[in-house]
Amino acid sequence: MTNVYPEKISPSRSPRDVPTVRACLRCKTVFQSEGFGERVCPRCKGSAVWKSSMPTRGDGTRQR
Ligand SMILES: [Zn+2]
Repeated sequence: MTNVYPEKISPSRSPRDVPTVRACLRCKTVFQSEGFGERVCPRCKGSAVWKSSMPTRGDGTRQR
């Protein structure tokens, strides 16, 4: 059992799937995005307007 997987140290994740600084699509405020798909700042996300415009309601972390 001495198998070493080189993929373990290779950057297999998408560069857009990592936390980065983005500008909010609604208020243009620069915020810390948690990853891919996070394009709206938490402030706008918490607003009722944003929630009503989202077709999918829940925790926001849906996976197929
Ligand atoms: Zn915003």
